[in-house]
Amino acid sequence: MKKKLTAALCLNLCVFSGYAMATEEGETIDVALIGGGIMSATLGTYLEALQPDWKVNLYERLDHVAEESSNGWNNAGTGHSAFAEMNYTPQRDDGSVDVSRPPKITEAFEITRQFLSYQVLNGVMHDPGSFLNNTPHMSFVWGDDHIDFLRKRYEGMQQSSLYKAMEYSEDPEVIREWAPLMMEGRDPSQKVAATRMEAGTDAEWGEVTRQLISALSDKHDNFSLSTGSEVRDLERNDDGSWKVTWADLNDNNEEHSINARHVFIGAGGAALPLLQKSGIPEGNIYAGFPVGGQFLVTSNPEIAHRHHAKAYGLAASGSPPMSVPHLDSRKLDGQQRILFGPFANFSTKFLKDGSWTDLFGSMTTSNTLPMMKVGLDNFSLVKYLVGQVMLSEDDRFEALKAYYPEAKREDWTLINAGQRVQIIKKDPEKGSVLQFGTEVVTSQDGTMSALLGASPGASTAPTIMLGLMERVFPEQLASDQWQGTLKRMIPSYGQKLDGNEQLTNEIRAYTSSVLELGDTQPTAENAERIEALKARARGQEQGDEQVDDADSEQATETVENV
Ligand SMILES: Cc1cc2nc3c(=O)[nH]c(=O)nc-3n(C[C@H](O)[C@H](O)[C@H](O)COP(=O)(O)OP(=O)(O)OC[C@H]3O[C@@H](n4cnc5c(N)ncnc54)[C@H](O)[C@@H]3O)c2cc1C
Repeated sequence: MKKKLTAALCLNLCVFSGYAMATEEGETIDVALIGGGIMSATLGTYLEALQPDWKVNLYERLDHVAEESSNGWNNAGTGHSAFAEMNYTPQRDDGSVDVSRPPKITEAFEITRQFLSYQVLNGVMHDPGSFLNNTPHMSFVWGDDHIDFLRKRYEGMQQSSLYKAMEYSEDPEVIREWAPLMMEGRDPSQKVAATRMEAGTDAEWGEVTRQLISALSDKHDNFSLSTGSEVRDLERNDDGSWKVTWADLNDNNEEHSINARHVFIGAGGAALPLLQKSGIPEGNIYAGFPVGGQFLVTSNPEIAHRHHAKAYGLAASGSPPMSVPHLDSRKLDGQQRILFGPFANFSTKFLKDGSWTDLFGSMTTSNTLPMMKVGLDNFSLVKYLVGQVMLSEDDRFEALKAYYPEAKREDWTLINAGQRVQIIKKDPEKGSVLQFGTEVVTSQDGTMSALLGASPGASTAPTIMLGLMERVFPEQLASDQWQGTLKRMIPSYGQKLDGNEQLTNEIRAYTSSVLELGDTQPTAENAERIEALKARARGQEQGDEQVDDADSEQATETVENV
């Protein structure tokens, strides 16, 4: 039998050493979380705050949590706010720019900032600088057509109160001040333009994941973590619960099982095969297509300290969203670095630490044809991937020089990042479509759910998990207990920031102060209210300090999943 230990005894050790079994084999628990990435960490954190009496077990196949896509080195660490990512604002055939999508992503990231602030104020997380840092977000283009596009994008986004602080410039001297490395040595005859949002962030999603799971293990008797535990089967029991079978990878693959009323598959790229194992019909319409990421990285302090921005460019025409090049200021393992990429590499693995047979193993009689059709319909993706696989070291370095003209080869190393498994979904009209976003799949009775897809990913985990809870726990979510806690956790919960400048400034100043970002300062008008929000988050709200939730016309609107 698997080693047993109560969660109360395990403290920090559990997160990193392997065993934490607060449950008996064959016992029925409330929720099984599969995968120790940011998605399970976020859902587990919500559930422990909302329903602390529920028994929640987390199973991770590796010996440590946050080693796959959520690890800081395996993703780009952008706090995706749609400030700079031009792929969120496509140009229409008539030349106009569609700016309808960014507010959804911006609002989702404002929820993330509030979720993280609540954790800091309640001692769940600590040292905000270890996981979130203020890093302005820039869009950078050259050439008349692209400048025209960026100007229109900027003008369109200015219509929303969320982007009032965005700056636009075609002046090389101004852009040089924003990002000196990008302008030094550039051909002076080349026309350039850029936008800049001071309130952008660089995130270390691995540190977020580790801190959340560490706090769950340390502080909650009803939570247990099993590392080195690979979930291999999911079977429906007669009473509607799920038999979760996992193998102890550190004990000759010995198999164990537990029953769970609810299961969340947060297994990143490996979520699809597990969803297929569950046999729920909702899973039959999906296939997955893995694309790996690579970055050029420099840790040379003289260079790294001269770039303080995440500067996004435009992807080549027709290429997929994950190909957008960006020159990023990053803080990883406590050190300032610059990453450039991503470059794509093709591998049939669904996880970085996965198997070459993953892709073929996920092919079923119902999803193989749709996959082939997507390949034929998305020739630009196939062309892009083939082009990326063929890239030489020189090609990658030339791509970097378009953003950093004076880059020196000896400063840069190529690293492999994580795997993104893009969703291929059956479509009644087109037969099948390739999606680049994330999607929560839930069984009809809400007992089995999974997160498929990769982007905008970690940045929007608290919004994605709110959407999941609306579908899986609708009654509990409507209760006064859950509503009260959610409003303390996310002061803007149920309210729309877009169009409400006062609320936006207040929420940004509140999270900026708690997370030590310094990107939005409190004003004379909202300083008192920000202190009241902090007190409420800590559960210290009293009498006349009470925060009024009724000041929004959209108080009942649900949070939109992005
Ligand atoms: C190259 C790249 C760049 C990215 N850039 C950004 C960015 O800039 N900003 C952003 O917000 N997002 C970004 N993302 C997306 C983001 O990293 C992911 O959306 C997010 O980390 C996914 O978290 P997760 O918890 O779903 O998966 P993961 O972090 O991958 O965690 C899944 C876990 O499940 C475990 N597991 C798998 N199978 C099993 C099993 N059978 N049993 C038990 N455990 C299992 C794995 O070992 C892993 O630990 C990027 C991703 C990539 C690949």
